Amino acid sequence: MLHDGENIMVILSSPSGVGKTTITKKIQQKYPNFKISVSHTTRIPRSNEVDGVDYHFVSKENFKKLIDQNQFYEYAKIFENYYGTLRKTVDEDIISNDLIFDIDWQGTKQLSKFNNLKLIKIYLIPDSKEELKKRLIKRDQNTKEEVDKRYKSFNEDVKHWNDYDYIIINKNLDICFKQIENIILLHKNKIINPSHKSQ
Ligand code: 5GP
Repeated sequence: MLHDGENIMVILSSPSGVGKTTITKKIQQKYPNFKISVSHTTRIPRSNEVDGVDYHFVSKENFKKLIDQNQFYEYAKIFENYYGTLRKTVDEDIISNDLIFDIDWQGTKQLSKFNNLKLIKIYLIPDSKEELKKRLIKRDQNTKEEVDKRYKSFNEDVKHWNDYDYIIINKNLDICFKQIENIILLHKNKIINPSHKSQ
């Protein structure tokens, strides 16, 4: 499907625990035209997560069926679970909304192959690994093993930062949000006024 309208697709990726879910929700609250792409996953829901809002929680069997039917724009196995973005939902939602994706580097690579998608790829990093560990523990939604696994994945994850258009350090949530907001507004402005040149 051709995505030739004015709507944009923003990808936010980061090592686990850097705060991208919070930022994604903040963008959506301030800019109601942004829709958050709700992924499918085989992960068990956390206590605060709602099916259909945070994720579509499905069995491994159902996820594999969707893969076989070629229904995903992208999917990846992360921490023993599958995560993926359905083509149909993206194609329908982009007609009347800007979209924001909270997906990992593997999914970003796969989406980048579709030349018709207007992607803005943003990678968030923590200001330090110590801060990241604190956040993972504070999140209190993961077992100690989960925290360790996610913390250890940091080194592998950051190797992929150069696949992104922008790298933002999340030291202060408000500043980080403002920087992402500026990137989005710049791109929207360029699409709506193609003659606009950034300084
Ligand atoms: P969590 O289990 O903490 O919700 O997510 C784990 C990782 O999966 C995060 O890095 C998140 O960005 C990524 N993720 C969530 N949904 C998708 C998806 O649909 N595709 C891909 N490739 N990654 C996803």
